[in-house]
Amino acid sequence: MRHKIQDLVRALEAVAPSSLQESYDNSGLLVGRWEQEVSQALLCLDCTEEVVQEAIDKHCELIIAHHPIVFGGMKRFNGADYVQRTVEMAIRAGVSIYAIHTNLDNVLKGGVNGKIAERLGLQGWRILQPMPGQMLRLDVYVPAENAAELEQALFDAGAGQVGNYADCRFAVEGQGSFTPIEGSDPYLGKQGKRELVQEVQLSVILPASLRSAVLKAMTDHHPYEEVAHHVWALDNAHPEFGAGLWGELPEPMSEEAFLQHLKVSMDLHNFRFTPRKHNRPIHRVAVCGGAGSFLIKKARQVADAYITSDVKYHEFFDSEKQLLLCDIGHFESERFTQERLAEILSHKFPNFATLFTQTNTNPVRYYL
Ligand SMILES: [Zn+2]
Repeated sequence: MRHKIQDLVRALEAVAPSSLQESYDNSGLLVGRWEQEVSQALLCLDCTEEVVQEAIDKHCELIIAHHPIVFGGMKRFNGADYVQRTVEMAIRAGVSIYAIHTNLDNVLKGGVNGKIAERLGLQGWRILQPMPGQMLRLDVYVPAENAAELEQALFDAGAGQVGNYADCRFAVEGQGSFTPIEGSDPYLGKQGKRELVQEVQLSVILPASLRSAVLKAMTDHHPYEEVAHHVWALDNAHPEFGAGLWGELPEPMSEEAFLQHLKVSMDLHNFRFTPRKHNRPIHRVAVCGGAGSFLIKKARQVADAYITSDVKYHEFFDSEKQLLLCDIGHFESERFTQERLAEILSHKFPNFATLFTQTNTNPVRYYL
C-alpha cells in the first residue's frame, strides 16, 4: 500500500520527536518531498551509494537511515566525495532519503538503546542522562462550568502524564477580571464594562514536544476569544527523554559470563573491554549505542558494566577500574536499529513494506 512520506515520518516522530535531536544533528527529510507517496522503504544504518543502488534495484522510493548522509552545508555537487555522489544519485533516481538520528538515540522506549537493552535482557530501563528543557507547565484560566471539558481536552492531547499516572492536574478556584475593549467580541460581558467571573486555574505538565498539540486543544476547547494562559519552562527531567539507558540483568552474572552473554546477544566477533576485576558481579548495565564516551562517568555512578562504542585509549582509564567498559563497535552497537524502525512502521501501517538493507555499510573491518 502507498503512503505519504509525511505520514510515515509522523509515526516515527511520534516515538522519537524531532525536537529531541542534538544541535549538531541533521535528522529529517534530506532528499524528496513530504507529500510523495511511496509503497516500500529500505531501512539502513548508513545511506551510501551502494544503498541508493539497492533501493533502485528493489524499487524502494524511500530510504530511512539512522545516520544522516548530509551533516553540514554543501556548496558543490560535482561528485568530489561520497556524500555528494550519494545525494546526487538519489535525486537523479527519485529516491527520497529520511534520517532519524539523535532523536532516536534520545528516547527510552522505541529507540536505539532500547534495542540493545532488549537483546541483553535488561529490566527496569531508566534514562542515564536526562535531557534538560523537555518539560513545560501550562496554567490556563477558564470559567468554572467549562473546566471539565477543557481539562479532558488537555489530557487527550497528552498533557497531565506524571510517570505511570495519567490525567494529573491541579485546579484552584478564584475570581478572574477583564474589561473587553474596542475590537473585542467577548463570550461574557460587554465592551467597556469590567467583568468579574468565577474561574478555575488548571495547571498541567506536558512534554515540550507536545506544546503545539496541547495549546491547540486548549484554544479549541476554551470559550473565550482570548485565552489567558501561561507556559512555564520546567527544570523537571522527562523520564523517557535523554542519552543512554541503564537497567538490570534478571540475575547478577560473573564478568566472564557477562562478556560471553554480550558477545552472543549482540552477535559480536570480538570487542574491546577494560581489564577484568575478578569476583565483581555484573548486575546493573548501562548502554549507549554509537559514540558514548561522554557518558562513562554517569555509567560509573549507576552501573557495573557499560556497553558503547568509539572509546578512545585514554577514555578507557575513565572507567577507574570500577566499571567493566565494553567498546563493541559503532556499527555493531546500532545495526539492530533498523528492526526498531520496522516495528514502529508496521505497528502503524501493517500493509506498508519495509526492507532491511543487505549492504554491509560498516566502514571498519577486523583482521583476525
Ligand atoms: Zn551512530
